[in-house]
Amino acid sequence: MAARSSKTPVMQQYHAAKQEHPDCLLFFRLGDFFELFYEDAVTASQDLEITLTKRRDRKGKPIPMCGVPAHSANGYLAKLLQKGHRVAICDQVESASKASRRLVRREVVRVLSPGTASDLSLLKSGENNYLAAVCEQRGSAGFAYVDVSTGEFRTTEIASTDAGDMIEAIGAKEVLRADGNGSLALKDGRPDANAGCGYLVTPVEPWVFDSEYGERLILETFELHNLAGLGLESQPTCVSACGALLHYLKETQRTSLPHLDPPAYLEQKDWMVLDPLTVRHLELFDPLYQETRTTLLLAMDHTATAMGARLQRSWLLRPSLNADEIEQRLGAVESLCKDTIVRSELRRELRPLHDIERLLARITLGSAGPREVYNLGTSLRRLPTIRQFISELRGRRTRAILDRLDSLDDVCERILTTLVEEPPATVGDGSAVADGFDPALDELRALQRDSRRFIAQLEQRERDASGIDSLKVRFNNVFGFFIEVSKANLSKVPERYDRKQTLVNAERFTTPELKELEAKVLDAEDRIAAMVAEILEKLRLEIASQARRIRVSAGAIAEIDVLSSLAEIAVEFDYSRPRFTDGSEIQIEGGRHPVVERMLERTSGDRFIENDVYLDNADHLLAIITGPNMGGKSTYLRQIALISVMAQSGSFVPARRAVLPLVDRIFTRIGASDNLAMGRSTFMVEMTETAQILNIATERSLILLDEVGRGTATYDGLAIAWAVAEYILGQVRAKTLFATHYHELTALEGLHSGIVNLHVSARQAGEKLVFLRRIQPGTADRSYGIEVARLAGLPQTVLDRASEVLARHERSEPVPPGTGVTAFERKQASIFEALPESISEELRNLNIERLSPLEALALLHEWRAALDE
Ligand code: ATP
Repeated sequence: MAARSSKTPVMQQYHAAKQEHPDCLLFFRLGDFFELFYEDAVTASQDLEITLTKRRDRKGKPIPMCGVPAHSANGYLAKLLQKGHRVAICDQVESASKASRRLVRREVVRVLSPGTASDLSLLKSGENNYLAAVCEQRGSAGFAYVDVSTGEFRTTEIASTDAGDMIEAIGAKEVLRADGNGSLALKDGRPDANAGCGYLVTPVEPWVFDSEYGERLILETFELHNLAGLGLESQPTCVSACGALLHYLKETQRTSLPHLDPPAYLEQKDWMVLDPLTVRHLELFDPLYQETRTTLLLAMDHTATAMGARLQRSWLLRPSLNADEIEQRLGAVESLCKDTIVRSELRRELRPLHDIERLLARITLGSAGPREVYNLGTSLRRLPTIRQFISELRGRRTRAILDRLDSLDDVCERILTTLVEEPPATVGDGSAVADGFDPALDELRALQRDSRRFIAQLEQRERDASGIDSLKVRFNNVFGFFIEVSKANLSKVPERYDRKQTLVNAERFTTPELKELEAKVLDAEDRIAAMVAEILEKLRLEIASQARRIRVSAGAIAEIDVLSSLAEIAVEFDYSRPRFTDGSEIQIEGGRHPVVERMLERTSGDRFIENDVYLDNADHLLAIITGPNMGGKSTYLRQIALISVMAQSGSFVPARRAVLPLVDRIFTRIGASDNLAMGRSTFMVEMTETAQILNIATERSLILLDEVGRGTATYDGLAIAWAVAEYILGQVRAKTLFATHYHELTALEGLHSGIVNLHVSARQAGEKLVFLRRIQPGTADRSYGIEVARLAGLPQTVLDRASEVLARHERSEPVPPGTGVTAFERKQASIFEALPESISEELRNLNIERLSPLEALALLHEWRAALDE
């Protein structure tokens, strides 16, 4: 006889499922709980902070386990996904009653991973949740990304060295790459949920990236004959990356995906490139310092819907380089600015809309409950009114939106006539379907509702017929319905009664009529549940069959939402429509920083001081900006970049007038920015970043250099800054703003045409420093560092000593030791003391070439003697 396995049948089932998904935490359904076992339990109990318990196998060996209630599993799943785990859900696929004495069948119904989450509670409403794939080939890479929770699917070709930047820029949560392709520079490892960043790298078998397989998957999924319509016919690496995504989605979602867009091919030349550092430095989406919590996105995003919020984000992330596209958006914003009534009515209609894109995704994936389907219905009900308002607007773009916005009356009606108002979140008791929708269902429900009445009627009839007043019809789980007659009345029991059970004081009977009623009543509940499930599934399939139309309409809604939000901020904050020029000049009059302006108003009530900008590719190519610390240099630099980003994303801008060229790429480098986490010295980072700019920037780029060169010794830094400025001027020819405390750099203006000096003004009034925040031509007299240090509260002794050192330094005098310096430090400091002026003078005038070695030695001896005196 074979040895008895130490595993119970349930655990055997568990091991079979786990074997299929070794890289996932396995959520295994047992009754009302999802349980985890072995290593999974240890990991999950730590990450979820839940108790680790144990269960014993047949041989008494302990197995670590932990569990979460099935009804509240979502919250736990969200936490695990955030921490970068993949989770396989192994659920019961038949009801316990159906399995009767058999083991209930369990199957992995879904695999969740950070990049494929679609549950609304797991997602941030205003952000996409991208899964990306990179297919590298000889230095270039096909890059594809998809948001399963909305249906967006895009692909582009990039340099493979840019893959990391691209992933970071779109904020992908998970990235697929061919197993063994270690050359691809991706940061492997778990996302850092606390830092809110990072992505999971999922290796897949290399054949998944086969381009022929990819092509087949794309054609099959989107029912196409060839790739030409998608612009992918000569992009094999993109096709491979798209194929890998589709393969992975099929494996994990285990359902068809009718809501997915066919992959849209993007060309990098169509949008302004913002590398992750620039995105961070410009604080487009995340603040550099958490305490300020202000970003350009927050300042701009007044959208009313989640769909709009996501689109606004992607417009900012990828400002357009297509003049026609930008003008169309600006035209729509302008007409929305002018038509205040339509704008406010439109926004009122948009506000109550649910997230149509994500609801649709959940419905097509089969994970939406009746309430979500109903929410889709009530949202669609508003579309005709929204269409009506849009039709009142002028302009090409709004007309195009109107053409895309299908009012979807048929889908809406289908949903709202099928479901009751405010249906339950889950199918549960079967109450989700409206009365009157299906006569068979109505009949069953009537039976269920009337069962009490039917039974009461039957009971009365039997009492009358038998003359037994105490006769009762009762119900219990074991015997079902029965007629109960006390012992004393047994003689009156009619012949037609069948005995069911004998008790001490009574007997229980049934009749054919009661049996029939019982069967109907008991059956009704099951049949209602089954019928409702069937009706809802049919509804789901019908909605899924219209997924394309619904998605296109949702896209139109997102767009009108963003455009009306842009109009809203333009009116509220007095922005103006930028003009684009074919020439090269940036001409901004009365420009403001959109975020600092609002922060000032909110915190101190101070007004933001407007400033002008003029740059071109001839005499004003590179501006060197000097001025006091805290004077406003960085703010000025950033506001120019932000105005460009806003304008090219289709927004009005915070300026009285702005004439702009189309900028292909913005670079911002901030001197000595800390990047210790990446394990490189700050100066090294700064130089690497600067090197990148010098190699990549074009004449159409905008470069912001904020105190570059500061992270090393003063003269090294100055020398590098100087050479960088000259290189930009001579080779790169990109418009550049260079804020610096190296006043020496201002000499460049006199040496080269194309360089101009600007400064932010400040005035010293007694001890106080007054910042004027005005950008003016010319050079600042000094940096006022000590005055700013005073504002910051440095001890008076330090300030006095600093003033003294500065004064001596400016007069090139040696600095004697000051108070508070230890003897040791004094000795150290003396090494660096300046030489006496007489010796320096002699040294400077010395003609070394003519000096014999003997004369040199004699001179050295002389100086040494002079120093010793
Ligand atoms: P540092 O050289 O020390 O880096 P900075 O010259 O770059 O200083 P910013 O950081 O740009 O100075 O500005 C300091 C502060 O001054 C800003 O945080 C803002 O509050 C305020 N500020 C800057 N520009 C303006 C302006 N145009 N109008 C009003 N306030 C301004």
